[in-house]
Amino acid sequence: MTATISHRLPQKRHLVTPLPGPESSALAKRRAAAVAAGVGSVVPIYAADADGGIIVDVDGNSLIDLGSGIAVTGVGASNPAVADAVAAQAHHFTHTCFMVTPYEGYVAVAEKLNELTPGDHEKRSVLFNSGAEAVENAVKVARLATGRDAIVAFDHAYHGRTNLTMALTAKTQPYKYNFGPFAPEIYRMPMSYPYRDDLGTDGVSAAKRAIRQIETQIGGEAVAGLLIEPIQGEGGFIVPAPGFLTTLAEWARDNGVVFIADEVQAGFCRTGTWFASEAEGIVPDIVTTAKGIAGGMPLSAITGRADLLDKVHPGGLGGTYGGNPVACAAALATIAEMEELDLNARAHHIEEIALPRLRTLADDLDVIGDVRGRGAMLAIEIVEPGTDTPAPALAKKVAAAALEAGVVILVTGTFGNVIRLLPPLVIDDETLVDGIDVLEQSLHSVAAPVGV
Ligand SMILES: *Cc1c(COP(=O)(O)O)cnc(C)c1O
Repeated sequence: MTATISHRLPQKRHLVTPLPGPESSALAKRRAAAVAAGVGSVVPIYAADADGGIIVDVDGNSLIDLGSGIAVTGVGASNPAVADAVAAQAHHFTHTCFMVTPYEGYVAVAEKLNELTPGDHEKRSVLFNSGAEAVENAVKVARLATGRDAIVAFDHAYHGRTNLTMALTAKTQPYKYNFGPFAPEIYRMPMSYPYRDDLGTDGVSAAKRAIRQIETQIGGEAVAGLLIEPIQGEGGFIVPAPGFLTTLAEWARDNGVVFIADEVQAGFCRTGTWFASEAEGIVPDIVTTAKGIAGGMPLSAITGRADLLDKVHPGGLGGTYGGNPVACAAALATIAEMEELDLNARAHHIEEIALPRLRTLADDLDVIGDVRGRGAMLAIEIVEPGTDTPAPALAKKVAAAALEAGVVILVTGTFGNVIRLLPPLVIDDETLVDGIDVLEQSLHSVAAPVGV
């Protein structure tokens, strides 16, 4: 029997001022004088409270959250079990440093990750703070374990903003622009992108195309690791065609290449399974996790084959804060909530509600070029009417119209034209439906229907 989800805040969209309200505008002024301009915010609205599918701003407006702070607050932004675990741990100790005086929470999170990630082989985990740090460490392990240098990444990839992960990320604006020089020995290969790819839904051929290129440009014997998001996040929720991931994984195995699945965005029930790799039965050598792992507390991890991870010399992996005890307590509570509330089932349920609505919208509006995604990771691609030309300005307009009505919705993608739905997994049906209604109205307000 699955526990029912209850919420502290009323789960209702309710605006009491135009957006942004006066308090948010006052904070924007303070911010401009104090915070560097290089940090952007999607919405000019300052949060005061958040719970379930609702964010309350400093002016008392209640907004529907269809972004989860970028796929982080799957269990909600103030899940009581997570909040209690954080408080309880903070009252004992906030930090000792696992590399100085270790503690159980770190070990328990590692055990849980080893159990939940794909494959029943012997595994080990290491904990860090951010997704980028996890990716960096996966690359370190792959290089040390294989004695090779080259790392293969893909078009439309996003892996973070540190120097190495900028090199791994495919998009220059805003992530890499003028921040070079970048780390060497990164090779970018063509992705399977069914909507825009000549090979369409033929994932095996798309993988063979990438493999041919890897073998020509690098040589399989020189590749340390192949790094891929099983569903791409910032690149535009691109779901590779069936057979793409399995063919690449097979090639990696045959060539002694470490297959690294970056599950930072797609992991932890987001797509209706613990990890997105499961949908195609992929068993990665190393999995990177972060975002959804700890209910909003900063934590990330790499989990992988024991024989790979245990090759690293003692002291070679770590960091002052990695696996902070408060973050570990939050992760254990988050994972317990995911199990207890069966959030994989919730993700499927969200897909059942949202996907048919998006498909109907695509039939009615010729600015929607594609509808895709899995579970609670869904997207529509906005195009110039009747073409496949990306329409980023139009996508921004839709998001702005939705915000004006009280719905926070994120735009992403290599071409800046993908509207993505990433609601908290604990969002109520009525709140979700209201959010989609607003998205529909926003689309209609900026786009002409098909045939007009
Ligand atoms: C967000 C993200 C990262 C980077 O995580 P940070 O915590 O922002 O460093 C890496 N990979 C993927 C797939 C992501 O979505």
